[in-house]
Amino acid sequence: MKKDIILKVDNLRTYFNTDDGVVKAVDGVSFELRKGETLGIVGESGSGKSVSNLSVMNLIPSPPGKIMGGTVIFDGRNVFDLTEEELRNIRGGKIGMIFQDPMTSLNPFLKISTQMVETIVLHKKVSKEDARKRAIEMLEMVGIPKAEKRVDDYPHQFSGGMRQRVMIAMALSCDPEILIADEPTSALDVTIQAQILELIQDLSKKLGTAVIMITHDLGVVAGMCDNVNVMYAGKVVEKGTNDEIFADPKHPYTRGLIKSVPRLDKPKQKKLYSIEGQPPNVIDLPECCPFFPRCEHAMDKCKTSYPPAVKLEGSREVSCWLYEEKTSGK
Ligand code: SF4
Repeated sequence: MKKDIILKVDNLRTYFNTDDGVVKAVDGVSFELRKGETLGIVGESGSGKSVSNLSVMNLIPSPPGKIMGGTVIFDGRNVFDLTEEELRNIRGGKIGMIFQDPMTSLNPFLKISTQMVETIVLHKKVSKEDARKRAIEMLEMVGIPKAEKRVDDYPHQFSGGMRQRVMIAMALSCDPEILIADEPTSALDVTIQAQILELIQDLSKKLGTAVIMITHDLGVVAGMCDNVNVMYAGKVVEKGTNDEIFADPKHPYTRGLIKSVPRLDKPKQKKLYSIEGQPPNVIDLPECCPFFPRCEHAMDKCKTSYPPAVKLEGSREVSCWLYEEKTSGK
């Protein structure tokens, strides 16, 4: 049985006005997140995955950014209709966030205890004493040894991996319904990466928190996410369950991304595959499939019009003229 939808993003459009033109960073993105589900949002840099999620929290700096349209329904309300105070209650409370570099979110001049207690008191409306107990409990939960003592350390006294654990503890300390993890392991070495991903997975299961995992690396979402959205040039080009996407990727871009992931179960390649070419400049993008200069299947119509999203078997949806042709029987 499908779980309840807790976040519904519909036709979200976030643009940035620059001296060179309009950057359509997010252009018609729609997705749903269900209770306790892990959704992977994957794409190269500049594909719009982080801007989508900053838009969900209504955190786009304006100017130069602007939410041009769409809705983000959380807790039955459109976040774009909320007051600043209502938004503050959601950010860090009902929706927690962790970023690639914990130092951008942790204040280097304040002890971890001060930062965590402040957040917990604000969102959980408990005493400072209880908030401190909660902070220690969360640090223990994420595997910080001697948490009772270390809670009074400053961020720089922790290693990179431990700092990311502190961020996870902080983000989960107010029992959020959703945890948004934006490239949470990109700055860490591979062994620590695996530990942090496992930790997020374990904790989200234990606490029933839904997770949005934003990453450029499909290898990160494999096996971890229930559903995957693949983004390119501000749009979702393919979505489906983890199994559907990995077993049978449909969009040529998704296929390229999967081929680029190093595999230990396949014969060693001389050179690791990478998709030819560069992601497009998203300033004043013409109405076409932006992947066409890199696509080996590109047809004439790919250069003149953007393919509509087509529903395929299962929960699969793909925007590519190859599938529009098949489903319309042309
Ligand atoms: Fe390739 Fe055309 Fe599909 Fe774009 S629409 S991915 S260019 S086949």
